[in-house]
Amino acid sequence: MSIKRATQIGEGVIRQKAALVKNALDKKAQQIIKDLVDSMRHDNLVGMAAPQIGRGLRIFVTEIRQTTYRKNISKPDPLRVFINPRIVWRSKRKAIGYEGCGSVASSALFGLVKRPASVICRALDKNGEPFTVRATGLLARAIQHEMDHLNGIVFIDQVSTKSLVDKETYINGRG
Ligand SMILES: [Zn+2]
Repeated sequence: MSIKRATQIGEGVIRQKAALVKNALDKKAQQIIKDLVDSMRHDNLVGMAAPQIGRGLRIFVTEIRQTTYRKNISKPDPLRVFINPRIVWRSKRKAIGYEGCGSVASSALFGLVKRPASVICRALDKNGEPFTVRATGLLARAIQHEMDHLNGIVFIDQVSTKSLVDKETYINGRG
């Protein structure tokens, strides 16, 4: 187990554009994947991107499951590793949903973000093999949120600020 502290907004790496991974199978990339999975699970997140553990490379992981913050998961989705991901299609239809972030006040703030309801994402998996996923619901939201991290964007850049609530309010009333 290797749990890394979640870097926070205000730290440079959170606002930098992450670099392409040259070799998905090298030690460095594989270590980042392990650290992301352990840290995501430890921090009760449904996704986590490499800049959030201080590494400026284009890698993120998702795992749609019940957490402290997400109590009603209608469609769980197993662990996925995305290396050099690209969103190749976005639906015109938008969806509004709550987001928080391990890098924004350590998940102490939640608010509504409007995003395309469905996306198609292409990436390499942890073995360096290409795959394509068509995502809807929370997985689509997580993929877009994590993709933003690779481009130096965080959810509060796009949040409806009047919808912001603190962690306790969110967990007790809106999870
Ligand atoms: Zn985040």
